[in-house]
Amino acid sequence: MPFWQGRVSLAAEHLLRQCAPLRLPIDLTRLAIKQGIAQIRFRPMPCDGAIEVVADGFVVHMQSTKEQLVPTSAVDSSALSVRQRFTFAHEISHTFFYDAARQPCKPHPTPRLLEGSCNHGAQRLLLPEHLLAREIGTGRRFDSIEMALDIASAARVSAEVVLQRMDELDQFKETDYAILTFRKQDDGGIVTTGVCINGVFR
Ligand SMILES: [Zn+2]
Repeated sequence: MPFWQGRVSLAAEHLLRQCAPLRLPIDLTRLAIKQGIAQIRFRPMPCDGAIEVVADGFVVHMQSTKEQLVPTSAVDSSALSVRQRFTFAHEISHTFFYDAARQPCKPHPTPRLLEGSCNHGAQRLLLPEHLLAREIGTGRRFDSIEMALDIASAARVSAEVVLQRMDELDQFKETDYAILTFRKQDDGGIVTTGVCINGVFR
């Protein structure tokens, strides 16, 4: 696993342990508060989310049609959209790159590596391994898009996020298969959004 992804994985696992016991869908509000995210500002903005360091912690900015600043504790993370939940988890992962004084940690990854690592962290926060094991069930294996959709619905994430996460977890897989999801873009082009492969397809 690349260096920064490895660091984010460890930080995500540590945070999940601090917030145990957990169940699906993950209570991101609890995780955010633990990381010092005191407020969430919903507002129209050109990107999905951002994080800001303020005097007493962090403020997460989230794309929304209406403007509203709320204490994190007032946000029911299970009521957010699937896309907002991913953004929220991504912004929580950004806090892993600050030290205790909320200064950017050193060394710091390049912006591109940072964003990729935070997506990686978001997948881990939304889909902890032990809860996936429970969801799949003892003795069963992850082997169908239906299963991906069931997990996505229980965890309140997209099927693409489930596939990306499951792709790394070989212990849940058995047979030879490839599950892919595609999205048709506005210009008619088709992009691959999720890939989970096993066996001969690896
Ligand atoms: Zn980011």
